[in-house]
Amino acid sequence: MATKFDVIVIGAGPAGYHAAIRAAQLGLNTACIEKWLDKDDKPAYGGTCLNVGCIPSKALLDASHKFIDAKNHFSEIGIISKELDIDVPKMIARKNMVVSNLTKGVAGLFKANGVTTFEGVAKLHANRSVEFTSHKGDVESLEADHIVIATGSVPAEIPPCPITDNLIVDSAGALDLDAVPKRMGVIGAGIVGLELGSVWNRLGSKVIVLEALDEFLPLVDAHVAREALKQFKKQGMDIRLGTRVTGTEIKGKKVKVLYSDSEGDKSETFDKLVVAVGRTPYTEDLLAADSGVTLDERGFIYVNDLCSTDAPGVHAVGDVVRGPMLAHKGMEEGIMVVERIAGKKPLVNYDCVPAVMYTHPEIAWVGRSEQELKANGEKYKTGSFPMAASGRAMAANDTVGLIKVIADEETDRILGVHMIGAHISELIAEAVIAMEFGASAEDLGLTMFAHPTLSEGLHEASLAVAGHAIHIANRKRKK
Ligand code: FAD
Ligand code: AMP
Repeated sequence: MATKFDVIVIGAGPAGYHAAIRAAQLGLNTACIEKWLDKDDKPAYGGTCLNVGCIPSKALLDASHKFIDAKNHFSEIGIISKELDIDVPKMIARKNMVVSNLTKGVAGLFKANGVTTFEGVAKLHANRSVEFTSHKGDVESLEADHIVIATGSVPAEIPPCPITDNLIVDSAGALDLDAVPKRMGVIGAGIVGLELGSVWNRLGSKVIVLEALDEFLPLVDAHVAREALKQFKKQGMDIRLGTRVTGTEIKGKKVKVLYSDSEGDKSETFDKLVVAVGRTPYTEDLLAADSGVTLDERGFIYVNDLCSTDAPGVHAVGDVVRGPMLAHKGMEEGIMVVERIAGKKPLVNYDCVPAVMYTHPEIAWVGRSEQELKANGEKYKTGSFPMAASGRAMAANDTVGLIKVIADEETDRILGVHMIGAHISELIAEAVIAMEFGASAEDLGLTMFAHPTLSEGLHEASLAVAGHAIHIANRKRKK
């Protein structure tokens, strides 16, 4: 006899664990199945995000930023630090401790909320029956009125660069190096590649980023992307656009990368090569032939706007379904699905998904970019504020960047906000809230912001939409 639940969640990454905890809070008898094993072969919750994604990358980005700030900029503000050094194993150990505390925290939250956990692999069969195989190999039958698939994604691989234990690594490997490589190659100038490249560049590697596209960060507002490229180059990262990697050769402890650009075939030799060419949805061994769940042409589980699959009562959320591969997008989908199971009626607003790149300067945006609006022939107006004019940024000795607000030309409703600068991963939330509430640029202009804060940049950019920012010299200012 199968053990029966109201809801079974498959996967305890951010999408799955949010779904499971909220389902239990709503009084649903909930189970969560998770197969992740850490380096010591111990079960761990939290998925990619907690184990090898958002959290460990931010731990290393923060640590390496503190180092480079101390090294290059402390003297500018009157702090003299002479014998600065780094201890990579300690940095990695601290990162591992943060990860471990958080993954244990998820286990604690499951317990506190009464989520039944199963540590092992789930396979979905017809009629919402789930075959569970524990890490020891025991098989158990489970079933539920509702299934939530949240099996996430894994790093994409490309044939020219097969991952090897030590020389060619994926994003997880790049978060676990025990020393600073002299020369590091990064394939892919997406968010992951640039974050990881930044970490090791700051710690002393010569980082060369090879990117197939001719355009840098095509999804980012062009103005912001231009400024970002300038800053990363200034930091010493060698970003080569329009370069397609075609092969690799292992030469002792080094890897030779073959690539081509507009001038022809070239090569570079590295001590470490990081492959960061995107992620693919993960459904390996998940769906029995009779599960009724279908995949789209790119391998994502096919779902509608409410995250329902083609199989009745089976839902899918997070990286394994369409949309941006971001932790918070999956979390909100997970919560929406179980709240709807419990009879509530929430929706995910896919027009207001913030995206952040945690380099320095940070890049963040929500809503639509100028290039997108232009391509659609839509009429809009913009206001920008350079962080160089922010009193708080000057006081903090970090004035790189800008904030741009885009509003509908006629209604003034905010259509997108784009930022580059220090700490703007925190500021973008203000723009998301404004957009969620359908604010106009004038609404933000009429709102009082604390002084002196970086947030005032958003206030000023909103005022600039109407042409009357206070701290921007503009002779054509409107009344
Ligand atoms: P995952 O986190 O991938 O979790 C899926 C879980 O399902 C895994 O634990 C897996 O073991 C389990 N599973 C799979 N199949 C089965 C099965 N058959 N049975 C049982 N369990 C199964 N996003 C952000 O929003 N902000 C960031 O700063 C950020 N930084 C990132 C940095 C890096 C280096 C990387 C790689 C990613 C980053 N991301 C970031 C992306 C983010 O990690 C993902 O969007 C997020 O983890 C997706 O959540 P998920 O729950 O859908 O899937
Ligand atoms: P993202 O999907 O945002 O993480 O970005 C991954 C990046 O890797 C994209 O910008 C791709 O263009 C890039 N990419 C994919 N394959 C290759 C390749 N063979 N050589 C160089 N860049 C690549």
